[in-house]
Amino acid sequence: MNPRFEFSIHATDGKARTGVIRMRRGEIRTPAFMPVGTAATVKAMKPQDVRATGADIILGNTYHLMLRPGAERVARLGGLHKFMNWDRPILTDSGGYQVMSLSDLRKITENGVTFASHLDGSRHLLTPERSMEIQRLLGSDIVMCFDECPKIDQPRDVIARSMEMSMRWAKRSRNGFDSGGEHAESSALFGIQQGALDEGLRKASADALTDIGFDGYAIGGLAVGEGQEAMFSTLEFAPGQLPADRPRYLMGVGKPDDLVGAVERGVDMFDCVLPSRSGRNGQAFTWNGPLNLRNARHAEDNDPLDERCKCPTCATYSRAYLHHLVRSGEILGSMLMTEHNISFYQQLMQGMRDAISAGTFAQFAADFRRSYFGGRDG
Ligand SMILES: [Zn+2]
Repeated sequence: MNPRFEFSIHATDGKARTGVIRMRRGEIRTPAFMPVGTAATVKAMKPQDVRATGADIILGNTYHLMLRPGAERVARLGGLHKFMNWDRPILTDSGGYQVMSLSDLRKITENGVTFASHLDGSRHLLTPERSMEIQRLLGSDIVMCFDECPKIDQPRDVIARSMEMSMRWAKRSRNGFDSGGEHAESSALFGIQQGALDEGLRKASADALTDIGFDGYAIGGLAVGEGQEAMFSTLEFAPGQLPADRPRYLMGVGKPDDLVGAVERGVDMFDCVLPSRSGRNGQAFTWNGPLNLRNARHAEDNDPLDERCKCPTCATYSRAYLHHLVRSGEILGSMLMTEHNISFYQQLMQGMRDAISAGTFAQFAADFRRSYFGGRDG
């Protein structure tokens, strides 16, 4: 039988690491990219097609699922895996980030966050304890601590107070998770480091989390508008402040070049809506950089999106056809573009895993950047 949670690093190359997380519902190869299944679906893709791209794990959003269809309802229907027909690991976020970004009339206190649903205005209270309960009801495999993700451009003392409250919430999350009975014995809990761009606050946050003890550690509060340069500067120190023998998860990142730069700095896991959302908007990611399929110059181009890509879209359909579908607003355009983008991301992760194993990651990263930024398209 698979273990509850076990992380082994098979190879390192500079700060980059490759390995595997073993869990009850399957293995997660790292560095890993987790497609986002916001509302119990990776939009425009069937679960078996998501799996066929090479995804070992997907992400579900507590905020969306608690509002619709509701965590108790999902539990009555047998849990999120059965509900959406995905039998591999699922990571759920805590709801904290999306309460801050999507809901109205938020009121944050030491106890938690009161907010109004963006769907119907109904009032809800989300606390560390309730977030743990919702993630347990969903049947999440990797549960995230409830935290506050403050706006990044605030004064240091505001960031510090927010981080300190998130650390108290991390302790309450740990206690709430641990009282979850059978679920706690079969799933994992990750802490979330905060502290914005400040090295001292990041260190204090890492130390507080390590004292509590988690299966893995996320780097939160980045990819919120600070720009790649500031994010990479923070990643020069943030991953190294977290325990080396645990997975490090950079939340909400990112573009293909963000992923390569973050793996280079010691990150093991990622999630982002970008490949699926961009796909629905007619943007494809390729080894030669992003492509906008709305552009008229694709109208009579019989080439695939990417010559090197191994996905079913690239094996079957031309840029000209995809251009037509996208311009016509056809649903199939969203489906094929999403499938390509998620598949491209998984091929990028596989390329990084192979390069780290072979000890050639620096070369891989240099080749990637030359191709990605020097491509003929824009
Ligand atoms: Zn493709």
